[in-house]
Amino acid sequence: QARLLFPLMAIMRVALDLQTSGALFARIFEYLDLRPAIADAPGAVPLPAASPRLGEIEFDGVTFRYPDARGEDRATLEDVSFRVEPGQYAAFVGPSGAGKTTVSYLIPRFYEASAGAVRFAGRDVRELERESLVGHIGIVSQETYLFHATIAENLRYAKAGATQDELEAAARAANIHETIMSFPDGYDTVVGERGYRLSGGEKQRIAIARVLLKDPEVLVLDEATSSLDTISERVVQKALDTAAHGRTTIAIAHRLSTVVGADVIYVVDHGRIVEHGTHAELLAAGGAYARLYLEQAGASPNGSRGGSAGAAA
Ligand code: ATP
Repeated sequence: QARLLFPLMAIMRVALDLQTSGALFARIFEYLDLRPAIADAPGAVPLPAASPRLGEIEFDGVTFRYPDARGEDRATLEDVSFRVEPGQYAAFVGPSGAGKTTVSYLIPRFYEASAGAVRFAGRDVRELERESLVGHIGIVSQETYLFHATIAENLRYAKAGATQDELEAAARAANIHETIMSFPDGYDTVVGERGYRLSGGEKQRIAIARVLLKDPEVLVLDEATSSLDTISERVVQKALDTAAHGRTTIAIAHRLSTVVGADVIYVVDHGRIVEHGTHAELLAAGGAYARLYLEQAGASPNGSRGGSAGAAA
C-alpha cells in the first residue's frame, strides 16, 4: 500500500486535516502510531492566548527544501517574504508545483524553513509549542479525515463538549445540516472507514463545520473543488465564505472565484513570489497573473465568476 511506503506523506495528508483541535491532532498521531515529524524545540512556549497580533502571518526570507527532495538543484521555496494582516484574505496562485501548498505546510510547522523565519502573531513558529500553534489554525484541505464514529463525535473533536445546538448551528452555517438530517441516523450516523460513505463535497462541509466549531483566528484553505460538480462546488464555496469571514485566510487557490475578491493575491512561480496585489492591480500590471487569468477565462467561456472556471493554479 502506497500510504505505508510513504508514512511521512500519509502524516502530512492527515495532519493537514487540521480543522480539528490540538487534542484531535494528538489522537491522529496516536491512531497512526506515529509522531509528528517536527518536535517542539527545547524551550518552546505556548502562544499567549491574548497575543495582540493573533491572526498575523509573516514569512521572512523563507527558503525551504523538502528533506527527501531529489535533484538538489533547486529549493521548493526560495526567499519567500510576505505578511498577511489579521483578518485579511490572501490567495496564493500559480502553476502546478510552484510551491503554494508548501507555503501552507510551513505555517503550522509541519516542516521547518531551511532559512529565514515563519512568524505567527509576530513569534517565530520554532519558539512555539506546536499544540498551541495548531490550536489557532483551522485547515480545510483536499482530504478530510473522518473517524469511524458518529457525525456528532466527528464534529465534537473540534470542540469537546459542544452542545447539540452548537453542532447544528455550525452544520447549518456550513450548509451540511439538511444533508446530515437526511442520513439514516442523522447526527448519530456512523461515518469514516466502513461507515456511511460521504461524498467529497459532504466531507468538505463537515470539515468546514469543524472549523466553525473550533473558531480559530487563521484559516488555511487548500482548494480542491475541481472534484466537485458545479452545484456542490457552489454550496461548498458559500460555506467557505462563511468560514473565512472575520479570520485571516490563506487560500491556496485553483479557481478564479476565490481570488477575485481577495485582499491580496500572491503569484508563486518556481518557489518564488513573482507578483502580488489585488486582482485589479495585477490585471492592470499585465504580468504573470494577467496571463493566468486570461488563460483561464479563455478556457471557460461561461465563467466570469465562480462556476467551473477550470484550474488557474
Ligand atoms: P499544485 O497546484 O499542483 O497543488 P503547488 O503549487 O501547491 O502545486 P507544492 O505542492 O507546494 O506545489 O509542491 C512544490 C514542489 O515540491 C513540487 O515540485 C513537488 O513535487 C515538491 N514536493 C511536494 N511535496 C513534497 C515532499 N513531501 N517531498 C519532496 N518534494 C515534495
